[in-house]
Amino acid sequence: MIKLIRGFRDILPGQVELWQDIESKARVLLENFGFREIRLPIMESTELFARGIGADTDIVEKEMYTFPDSKGRGQTLRPEATASVVRSYIEHGYAGSDPVQKFYTIGPMFRHERPQKGRYRQFYQINAEMFGVASPLADVQIMYLLHLFFTGLDVPDVVTHVNSLGCPECRPKFREALISFVSDKMDRLCSDCQRRAEANPLRVIDCKVPGCKEAVQGAPSIQDHLCPDCKEHFQAVIEGLDDLNVPYEIDPRLVRGLDYYTRTTFEVQTTLLGAQNAVAGGGRYDGLVKVLGGKETPAIGFAVGFDRLAALLGAEEKDFTVPPALFIAALGEDARKIAFGWLCDFNARGLRAEMDYEGKSLKSQMKQANRFNAGRVLILGENELQNGMAVLRNMNTKEQEEVALDGLTDRVAALINQG
Ligand code: ATP
Ligand code: MG
Repeated sequence: MIKLIRGFRDILPGQVELWQDIESKARVLLENFGFREIRLPIMESTELFARGIGADTDIVEKEMYTFPDSKGRGQTLRPEATASVVRSYIEHGYAGSDPVQKFYTIGPMFRHERPQKGRYRQFYQINAEMFGVASPLADVQIMYLLHLFFTGLDVPDVVTHVNSLGCPECRPKFREALISFVSDKMDRLCSDCQRRAEANPLRVIDCKVPGCKEAVQGAPSIQDHLCPDCKEHFQAVIEGLDDLNVPYEIDPRLVRGLDYYTRTTFEVQTTLLGAQNAVAGGGRYDGLVKVLGGKETPAIGFAVGFDRLAALLGAEEKDFTVPPALFIAALGEDARKIAFGWLCDFNARGLRAEMDYEGKSLKSQMKQANRFNAGRVLILGENELQNGMAVLRNMNTKEQEEVALDGLTDRVAALINQG
């Protein structure tokens, strides 16, 4: 038997209905906020991610699925969406027409990391990006949207952590302070952190290895190093969140270890998913459009981890199958023919109906109707056929009524639509 590749998985019917529900709510909300869908390829040139995410990040160092094309040029299955959205924003010249643009995209991402609960090699994200607005209003709006999304879905136990990463003005001083803080703790850090402590000390703070977490307790806080402009921006974001009653926690340890991430950064965390505690992450990246070859353009965005969100809503324990409104049980060749005509008619009207195609006994057809959890069963046997009446049974109330064969689908459809 050929099986799934490790770290990959199937989202099966029963779960997929929940995914569809989440996705359609996300679309409605994002579109209400003025975000427009953009569909991007899942493969891009490797250089886009190497530059867009940063060479000394976990993703680029060790998690990318990269293949050479026939000429040996590197191409990579996208590990995230932001770099692709920025590429597209630049490539289609949005900056020239109206630099203020809001996009969203939903789809699979690929990272070659160690598979475990909540961590897959193909996973899905709901991604939103807003370009051209430097004002803290953008940050507030993005975080408000995310808050509405999670509360609208009744996601249990989520907290938005927020921080500022400063800007090219104030970050270097913070970096220095961090480097000198970690320099005498090197022997307590993991080998990755030892290597990157100099080049990217922010990532040491971000490291999930328990020893590193311990070692950086008491590290200097970026909050104490923000320049006046960054401080003012952060203050405005916090006030905006307060005004809109968005709950948050200021978390000076929350970082994204990339140079072009600036100012506001946030993560939605839960305690219900074990070690994989982040369900969404995002922040400002005012430097990225320029890094990827466009004009300097402020931008901010987020990515929701779809798989983890679905898990939080019970995807792995509950069955989200939507039962059919009707099961048609027909006995005998003639009855089955008529029943099939009805089935097609109901389906064409947009009602989900099912029947037995194989000529099973009435008893086993009723069992099948129960398995489907059908709301109603329509029974057509030889007697009914002779009398010109079918029997419609409501499976919840157990009430039965006779329905004339003539004009039956109109009558039954009307009853179903009444509830
Ligand atoms: P983590 O710290 O859990 O590795 P991350 O910082 O790498 O997350 P981001 O790049 O910020 O994640 O992606 C946004 C969201 O995508 C995460 O908050 C998470 O919910 C989800 N995500 C990231 N990697 C995976 C994965 N391998 N499998 C499932 N979901 C993931
Ligand atoms: Mg990761």
